Amino acid sequence: MSILFESLVFGPISSRRLGKSLGVNLMPEIGKICSFDCIYCECGWNPEKKQTNRLPKKEVYETTLEERLKELVGTDLEPDSITFSGNGEPTLHPDFAEIIDITIRLRDLYIPNAKISVLTNGTMLHKKEIFDAISKIDNNIIKIDGGTYEMIKAINKPNVDFDLEKYINILQEFKGNLVIQTCFLRGEHKGVKIDNTTKEELSHWYEYIKRINPRKTMIYAIDRETPEKNLEKISFKELEQIAEPLRELGFVVECYGK
Ligand code: SF4
Repeated sequence: MSILFESLVFGPISSRRLGKSLGVNLMPEIGKICSFDCIYCECGWNPEKKQTNRLPKKEVYETTLEERLKELVGTDLEPDSITFSGNGEPTLHPDFAEIIDITIRLRDLYIPNAKISVLTNGTMLHKKEIFDAISKIDNNIIKIDGGTYEMIKAINKPNVDFDLEKYINILQEFKGNLVIQTCFLRGEHKGVKIDNTTKEELSHWYEYIKRINPRKTMIYAIDRETPEKNLEKISFKELEQIAEPLRELGFVVECYGK
């Protein structure tokens, strides 16, 4: 069963990476909108028909977040992070940049110690306003799920133009002020073998990490049910082995798995 987030602001939920995380879903409450269609997406496959549900207005978001923060401040549930994830890719919201400014203002007002986190597939970073908004927040967690275009295409199934070399160049423009996230997995999808843990995939992926020089890299295994069933969960031990060559070079790599 896939998980869809039915509210604009939800939680806080306990996140293995972000602690007590107050979720923000800028996508429709029913359905999913994304520029990728990852074979492991916990929201399930993209719908075949274009979503006609309206996206939440920034004014409604502002009121909803403010009300929720007022309820949570000073309680045991005070969040460690306000986290944009939800039913798809948050940067596809047309007012994403303004929504980030609203979030920073309300965070500073009510819970200044909380981080603002955005989990993004990075496909909109070529737009200056999105790049600038993502540069302003504490945890800009950006995806690279493979070392070659072929593997990324097989895992993430982009439905927009995606040029891997251009993408890495954009990530280098953050000058190290970003977090990279990579889901490692093996399996098969529609007869195509999936494995981003091979020696070849990893050698390219290591080179990308060295070029981007992120302040942190999060690598993780599948945690929840996936739309493609034929996928293997990589063990925590294997994630640690993947992390090792980067750690030896002084990179910070966190592993999330069992
Ligand atoms: S980028 Fe995220 S929301 Fe989009 S399909 Fe992949 S996992 Fe799902």
